[in-house]
Amino acid sequence: MATGEVLSQPTQPPAIDRSAPDNALSSEVHATDASDDQSAGMPADSDESDDELFEVDRSLVDEALMDEVDPEDLVPGPDTCSPQEARAYRARLNEVGGSVFVYETITTCTITAKKLCTAFGVKPPFWLEDQPDKAYYQVLGLAIGRALARRSRLPAYRTIEDAARLIKNSKNIMVITGAGISTSLGIPDFRSKNTGFYSRLREMGYDDPEQVFDIANFDEDPTIFYSLAGDIIPDLHNWTPTHQFIRLLQDKGKLLTNYTQNIDNLESHAGISRAKLVQCHGSWATATCRKCGYKIPGEDIFDKIKQQQVAECPECVRQLAVPRPGMKRKRSSNETAGAKGKKRRQSDSDDDDDDGQYDIPQPGVMKPDITFFGEPLPNIFFDRLRDHDKHRVDLVIIIGTSMKVAPVSEIPHIIKRRVPQIYISRDPIGHIEFDINLLGDCDVVVAELCRLAGWDLKHKMLPEGQKINVEAVYPEEAAQHTWRVSCAPTTGNSSAPGGTAVVDFA
Ligand SMILES: [Zn+2]
Repeated sequence: MATGEVLSQPTQPPAIDRSAPDNALSSEVHATDASDDQSAGMPADSDESDDELFEVDRSLVDEALMDEVDPEDLVPGPDTCSPQEARAYRARLNEVGGSVFVYETITTCTITAKKLCTAFGVKPPFWLEDQPDKAYYQVLGLAIGRALARRSRLPAYRTIEDAARLIKNSKNIMVITGAGISTSLGIPDFRSKNTGFYSRLREMGYDDPEQVFDIANFDEDPTIFYSLAGDIIPDLHNWTPTHQFIRLLQDKGKLLTNYTQNIDNLESHAGISRAKLVQCHGSWATATCRKCGYKIPGEDIFDKIKQQQVAECPECVRQLAVPRPGMKRKRSSNETAGAKGKKRRQSDSDDDDDDGQYDIPQPGVMKPDITFFGEPLPNIFFDRLRDHDKHRVDLVIIIGTSMKVAPVSEIPHIIKRRVPQIYISRDPIGHIEFDINLLGDCDVVVAELCRLAGWDLKHKMLPEGQKINVEAVYPEEAAQHTWRVSCAPTTGNSSAPGGTAVVDFA
């Protein structure tokens, strides 16, 4: 059986369990009915007993799925879908379901399984390179199952006017933000490989910021972080029109939570309440002593960072300065036990001679409360999402992030499917289906949304009376839902400011 063959092989759920509320959908893919077996040249046998020949180690398959490529980044070739083809295939799958989709594609040989994998973000794995096309069925089946388990678009919302109406009418808006909302202030996204910070790291012999932001490396030698972090300490006085937009949602009583992946803490400067802010990767707002846990405002260590000097804990310094006659001074180093402790005990407890580094008590080192690699994410992320927001949210707006970093990248699949999701960013992404995509400078997009909603978004970086163009990005698609929003070139003959009329919300 042809369709069954493709999709009955994966008898487990898709490798990446997105915990979508209706994962049952994915079982559809395994339950495809048998049809015309041999016509597609596929073997007639069906279940577990099937071809040992192509049985592949599940961990290899999982790896192929985990290593997801964004279909929007595909370079078309004989074995690779173009982004347009990928979009069309994904839309078709959502339209007709797994069985019909597989029949239309694989059973009727209109496309190879190898090529179709790419429409679902799976790069054909190298270990299948010279295998017959059938060998790709297992990976393809799981990729299709994964796609079906993810959210699909809500057809009721398509245009920028729909987006403005949603914002105006929703009461509990979740805003998910990333580096793109701060770049208009010149703050580099240190995760993106094109920033000055990255090239500086390379000059110093580090290939990867993970080395600098690794907690074990920091504890071993904080000077590396302190010598480099000057490039990424945040601005204390400015924020962008997009931050102002989130603040406006808060002022109107509509902001449920802002989940930010940014560590720059600009949300706080813009006046977004701590109670409505989840800084998923921590932030520069505070710094904590690695030894005694003492906390200070993050900006208190900025001068030291600028001087490329390690900031010591003021509390540790205070404690060490207090003379304690008759008491053994507490051993004090970044290590808690072991050889150093033993050595310490051998010597006099209170001498300040310099006969060895082990005898000099050291104050702890301050670390900004940005989440380093090797540190757990702040608990509040999961707690708030699962126990509070998931049941209240009525609109999701995602701004300035490519949604590739977990756990934030999981949120769209965790939210109930009927909740509309709007995506605002410079470039489209293909691995998550949003209802409305508004592509462009996010400051421009949010300003236009506010204008359409009849709201007054004021910010010094927003020019007055800006004329805005909104164009369909994929004109070939029947139902447009992806738009390029840009400032129209000033021609001087425009009679009225602004683009289309304010949306009538009556
Ligand atoms: Zn301390």
